[in-house]
Amino acid sequence: MAIIASNFKTNHTRKSTNEFIQTVNNYLVENKISSEVYVFPTSTSLDTFQTVSNFFVGAQNAYATKNGSFTGEIGTEQLDEFNIKTILIGHSERRHILGETQEEIAKKFNFYKELGYKIIYCIGEPLEVKQQGLEKTLEYIYEQFIGIDTNYENLILAYEPVWAIGTGVTATNEDIINVHGAIKEKISKPLLYGGSVKVNNVREICSLNGVDGALIGTASWIKEDFIQILKNTK
Ligand code: 13P
Repeated sequence: MAIIASNFKTNHTRKSTNEFIQTVNNYLVENKISSEVYVFPTSTSLDTFQTVSNFFVGAQNAYATKNGSFTGEIGTEQLDEFNIKTILIGHSERRHILGETQEEIAKKFNFYKELGYKIIYCIGEPLEVKQQGLEKTLEYIYEQFIGIDTNYENLILAYEPVWAIGTGVTATNEDIINVHGAIKEKISKPLLYGGSVKVNNVREICSLNGVDGALIGTASWIKEDFIQILKNTK
């Protein structure tokens, strides 16, 4: 059984999100698929999912707080309104574009862990680290586990090499197998691959040793493509 997750990032309006989820939900109602499906919409669309029940909906981000003075952030008081109990933490765009440090990420992880949220925790190396070889890549990735309880029962990991995200350049099967194999030796949690997963490579990637599913950006934003991805991995 694969875990298939769509990360909308900063895409889709409430209207198009609604169309997306109704279409995907109808497909899931009418077709038996064994995959576990997740969708991470923008926070302005979290409520549009209240009418569907065939997949999990998660927050792309939230602050480590119930409420308070954290301009621009949301906390659990807002997530609770929509019954959101799943969150992405450590995504490379939050680390590298929004500047979240490992310390902040670990704090967020522990806050949401204490509340029992399902956490999809992302790790992955930038290009300059990849170019130094597998050993350095793994060293870099292991540092992204500092402060993270890898035994947490509601944890799913996602290996997303930064150089593969949104670039159209998917990691090779060898890259994926090597990194996933090494992580799996240390941590026995479901491990997704993310980074330019496409309609036509998702099946092969999900069948690789040590790969339990995919976390998908660009290729998952068009509803017909996402349904095709679900068909290709059922
Ligand atoms: P792309 O599928 O667009 O490369 O994005 C991957 C990703 O960042 C999912 O979280």
